[in-house]
Amino acid sequence: MSQAFTTSTGERRVAAIAAQCVMCGLCLPHCPSYAVTRNEAESPRGRLALMARIAAGEINSGSYPSLDSCLACGRCELVCPPKVPFIEALTLTRTANASVREHWTGKLARQWLRRPALLRLLMRNAVAVRAFLPASLRRRANLDGLAPIFNARTMPPLPTGTRNMIGSPTLILAGCAAQTLERGAVEAITIIATASGTEPMFDSARCCGALGRHLGHPTLACAPIVDGIDCAVAINSGCTAHWRQQLAPHEVLGVVAWLEQRLVPLSDRLTPRPLRVALHLPCTQQGLVGETDALRRLIDQLPGAIPIELPAQPGCCGSAGSYCMNQPLISQQLGSTVAEQIRALAPDVVISTNGGCRAQLAQALFDQGASIRLLHPAELIAAYLTGSPI
Ligand code: SF4
Ligand code: SF4
Repeated sequence: MSQAFTTSTGERRVAAIAAQCVMCGLCLPHCPSYAVTRNEAESPRGRLALMARIAAGEINSGSYPSLDSCLACGRCELVCPPKVPFIEALTLTRTANASVREHWTGKLARQWLRRPALLRLLMRNAVAVRAFLPASLRRRANLDGLAPIFNARTMPPLPTGTRNMIGSPTLILAGCAAQTLERGAVEAITIIATASGTEPMFDSARCCGALGRHLGHPTLACAPIVDGIDCAVAINSGCTAHWRQQLAPHEVLGVVAWLEQRLVPLSDRLTPRPLRVALHLPCTQQGLVGETDALRRLIDQLPGAIPIELPAQPGCCGSAGSYCMNQPLISQQLGSTVAEQIRALAPDVVISTNGGCRAQLAQALFDQGASIRLLHPAELIAAYLTGSPI
């Protein structure tokens, strides 16, 4: 059996958080897992009641399916009138109880996050041999969705000269994602940074720990070196909030805010092109990171681009770290719903700041026989800058 809370501080904190819930139920329509299961135990208030009982020692600690099925998306916090800090209670409970039943692929990915180059090799090989793998693994790991990412063409260099470098370098907190999901974004950010007169320094050898924290393993995080750096930018919305916790009091900019800044001196160099751009807003971007309005402003600056909003619900695509591997039924239902919404809007391209979400949605679109490109916003801007095809 898993151990109980190691300190009474954690128990008291979870009990105090759960006591803030007034059971109004206003969060229920916004909870993606509840939207799929319609099970009160898998709603925010149902989970808070369970966590309170575990903290009080009324029931055994250990693995509870209704806690395992929480996406840790934080959408309940955004609409909660008394602002119950649900994620804090969930993280404390998961950390104390290591409660999530984890699929072996998730364990493997978590262990290999400290070795992102090896993780990339593993994922690349899995994508290459996916036709021979069991269909359930192929879908859980989004291997068809990952295929375009791993086979992506390299962006061409800027066609004209670049400006002189000014100011101190920008540290790009690329993390393990740079080696795996965000190779295109790394290339695009290099193009944009160089064109706008700053020198990008990528730190892709370290992990922010986001995936580990999802599962109650917060010690996975390891901090990069930021001394002498004026500006640190996280490349992926899923990592941004975790980097901010790791590096406080250093400021960590989200990638959308940084792109908005860099685009100002580049506006006269963008190649106009008509493009319907669907905006996928990852849960982390809507909640912890913000920058949703900044993303809309960013697209408005691209000549010819028309931003298209996706429906607000269910919002979450079901990727959520390794949730797609641990909870395939709910995850795939959510991915399928968002993919149907995308198809109904028929955009030319979908942008999302989270590579995990893009892989999840690419897989769901593949399953539905649709072919719509999914890009990091930096990739879209670099294409406008270089005139390269999308
Ligand atoms: S974090 Fe997300 S999935 Fe979990 S209870 Fe809140 S809204 Fe539901
Ligand atoms: S909205 Fe907040 S207070 Fe109301 S049921 Fe949900 S968690 Fe509890």
